[in-house]
Amino acid sequence: MIPFLYVKPSKAQAAIDTVAKDQTAMFIAGGTNLIDLMKRSVMNPEKLVDINKLPLRKIEKEDGATHIGALALNSTVAEDKLILERHPLLAQALNAGASAQLRNMATVGGNLMQRVRCPYFYDTAMPCNKREPGTGCSALEGYNRMHAIFGHSDKCIAVNPSDMNVALVALDATVLVSGPKGDRKISFADFHRLPGDTPHIDTNLQKGELITAVHITENPYTKNVHYLKVRDRNSYAFALVSAAVGLELNGNTIKSARLAMGGVAHKPWHLTEAEQFLAGKPATEATFKQAAELAMRGAKAFEHNKFKLELGPNTLVQALKNAAGAV
Ligand SMILES: Cc1cc2nc3c(=O)[nH]c(=O)nc-3n(C[C@H](O)[C@H](O)[C@H](O)COP(=O)(O)OP(=O)(O)OC[C@H]3O[C@@H](n4cnc5c(N)ncnc54)[C@H](O)[C@@H]3O)c2cc1C
Ligand code: SF4
Repeated sequence: MIPFLYVKPSKAQAAIDTVAKDQTAMFIAGGTNLIDLMKRSVMNPEKLVDINKLPLRKIEKEDGATHIGALALNSTVAEDKLILERHPLLAQALNAGASAQLRNMATVGGNLMQRVRCPYFYDTAMPCNKREPGTGCSALEGYNRMHAIFGHSDKCIAVNPSDMNVALVALDATVLVSGPKGDRKISFADFHRLPGDTPHIDTNLQKGELITAVHITENPYTKNVHYLKVRDRNSYAFALVSAAVGLELNGNTIKSARLAMGGVAHKPWHLTEAEQFLAGKPATEATFKQAAELAMRGAKAFEHNKFKLELGPNTLVQALKNAAGAV
């Protein structure tokens, strides 16, 4: 770990200006990811801008949408009455993440921005295009059990490790940011990037831009929802595959569906085609299997993650069955 400067501004503009002007500066929130990366010299910011004094913790209704401040803790959001009433899918996804201790430190903004868990990214002795562009991808021919089956490139095959992000993309959330050029909104589907030729860039956030909140518009996915995470241990483990499902049912007919998968791509994987397929169909296992088949089109596995080609659809079908209730 290299020495670094530490500042804790109380105004958002001061935090933004510092990070925008200084290439070596980074925001820090709960620190549960960034400090690990610094200890291993994977990331070496020379200035840390602690944002914990900023008033970004509120969870409230705002113009019909649910406003979740970027500094709201993962545990607070998962237990919040408004979230449990309006977005139980998000609460389920958050509770499936990490451990209780980590959820008590981790923030919404930090969870959105957490880096990949590819072991080669953390091992500074190994080539990794994400850590050091142009050095190569060790996972392509190496150990790639946790890696992507969708949207990968020959430069990087890592997956986005977040559970929260899977629920938020399914719920069509919006990310609110403030930066040197003012405020803007980014739809959740456009927030994270596929690796392409620039795997070192995880998101479309610009230098100095601060996530201030996430908004979720009012939606009918309050009852028939399920987040299913398949992992090596029942706690404290990242998803091998996960599925976030929200159904709007009229009797046994699906009026509309929201679906996403985690652990399969460099960004939370929104299953829009399968969503469209399900609209107007009966909520039966046969329909769910057809939707899952559609969702898996274009999947391509590597040496050690071929099991995801089967685990993926099975997880989605089970999550759909759980969301629909007794099917
Ligand atoms: C052992 C372990 C197990 C875990 N298991 C899971 C799991 O199963 N599922 C899961 O989803 N997560 C898991 N996590 C990850 C955990 O959820 C993240 O570390 C956490 O959400 C990051 O939040 P933070 O506030 O601590 O971020 P920090 O570590 O403070 O920051 C992370 C990144 O976000 C940036 N950042 C933070 N806030 C903002 C903001 N407002 N605007 C712009 N940039 C910002 C920082 O600059 C940094 O780059 C695990 C972590 C550990 C250590
Ligand atoms: S998969 Fe991505 S993070 Fe992992 S070694 Fe390859 S480039 Fe690095």
